[in-house]
Amino acid sequence: MIACEVVIVGGGLGGLTLAASLGAAGIDVVCLEREAPSRTRSAAHDGRTTAIAYGPQQVLAACGVWDKIERDACPILRIHVADQDSPPSLSFLHHEVGAAPFGWIVDNRTLRRALEERIAELKRHVRVLAPAQMATLDCGALQARVTLTDGRVVTAQLAVGADGRRSASREQAGIGSYGWDYGQTAIVATLLHEIPHDNIAVENFLPGGPLATLPMTDARRGHDGLTHRSSLVWSEQTAAAQALMTCDEAAFTAALQEKVGAWLGRVRLEGPRFAYPLNLRRAKRLTAPRFALVSEAAHGIHPIAGQGLNLGMRDIAALRDELVRATRLGLDLGHPDILRRYEHARRFDNGAMVLGMDLLVRLFSNAIPPVQTARRFGLGLVQHIGPVRRFFMRVAMGERDTAPFPTPKTG
Ligand SMILES: Cc1cc2nc3c(=O)[nH]c(=O)nc-3n(C[C@H](O)[C@H](O)[C@H](O)COP(=O)(O)OP(=O)(O)OC[C@H]3O[C@@H](n4cnc5c(N)ncnc54)[C@H](O)[C@@H]3O)c2cc1C
Repeated sequence: MIACEVVIVGGGLGGLTLAASLGAAGIDVVCLEREAPSRTRSAAHDGRTTAIAYGPQQVLAACGVWDKIERDACPILRIHVADQDSPPSLSFLHHEVGAAPFGWIVDNRTLRRALEERIAELKRHVRVLAPAQMATLDCGALQARVTLTDGRVVTAQLAVGADGRRSASREQAGIGSYGWDYGQTAIVATLLHEIPHDNIAVENFLPGGPLATLPMTDARRGHDGLTHRSSLVWSEQTAAAQALMTCDEAAFTAALQEKVGAWLGRVRLEGPRFAYPLNLRRAKRLTAPRFALVSEAAHGIHPIAGQGLNLGMRDIAALRDELVRATRLGLDLGHPDILRRYEHARRFDNGAMVLGMDLLVRLFSNAIPPVQTARRFGLGLVQHIGPVRRFFMRVAMGERDTAPFPTPKTG
């Protein structure tokens, strides 16, 4: 039997960030991940990058992780939004809302490595068990109890589900969910290109789905004379995406070059292509007795604006704040008041973001002429009305509902 204060089911980026945040605050955590480290650390595991907004970056800084990725994080200084290359387009400059960048592009493997390194430093408080798959979860009056498929048992005052969109812990805690497929798949790859990106993130809304190029740090060793790098997130109708995944690299690059145009010069792939089917899933509640949900187990959204993990980080900051406060007051970390406050703190932001992203997908993945006219009118308005522009820029920076509670660093 393994005892701790908080047991986290799921060691993805969400679960590991929560583990580091709680460990840095001196709370004893066990994080369970069903995959072996040899798999989660392999190049084939995750080809994505994350646009970490300014607010969530503060969460990583507060738990001592940001120092470890800063060197590899590329700041976003400008965001350019186009609707199938037709005017009007929309351009946001970071200095319109302050000195900080809109966010940083970090590749997920770098982020995972930094989280693992920080967790190793916090070993007095954090244990990651992997492979360790949850089989059952029992949340009783006195404790939460997770039984693993290999028979081991972990007990805690609170269990947290960070086990992704198809969360089994959510189901076992009796929390329902709803959602739908978008019929789109995102193709993700790292691009090498000829012309520097000038720290500009570009999103072009095409009828099949959005195509984004996100600025990355330059390659240490380029190929073919190309050293500048961007991350590609190209969402397409699933049948078209499957064809793009199976065609040879030359055909893919030609199709891509046509969509991206000339602004990055010649482009080529740095590594493999990855495919992610796109859907929405949201939990009906965030808590049950001695149980809380964070990150994609609570809400999985379309990556149209790169907000999925950012939203999860805001859950993590809010839950950490409640647990740190409870620790200081000497309270049981599974106390219903803590869970009620967490649910209340996250209800509005999560609901607004899930709804907002769903509306964006429907509005922009649409070639119906009146819808097209309306959204181009909307883009024109946002481009020209200062307060509206600033509102969207602040949302992109993840500033709403953040304000991390300062946590003492230990370890
Ligand atoms: C194409 C694409 C681009 C994206 N870009 C961005 C972006 O720019 N910015 C951004 O903020 N977000 C972005 N996102 C979203 C972001 O990638 C996710 O929000 C994030 O990776 C989810 O992390 P998670 O830890 O919540 O879930 P997951 O990554 O799903 O992790 C869940 C973990 O739980 C483990 N697990 C599951 N069941 C069990 C069990 N029974 N026992 C033990 N372990 C279990 C799994 O093995 C997994 O490791 C993007 C998503 C996509 C698809």
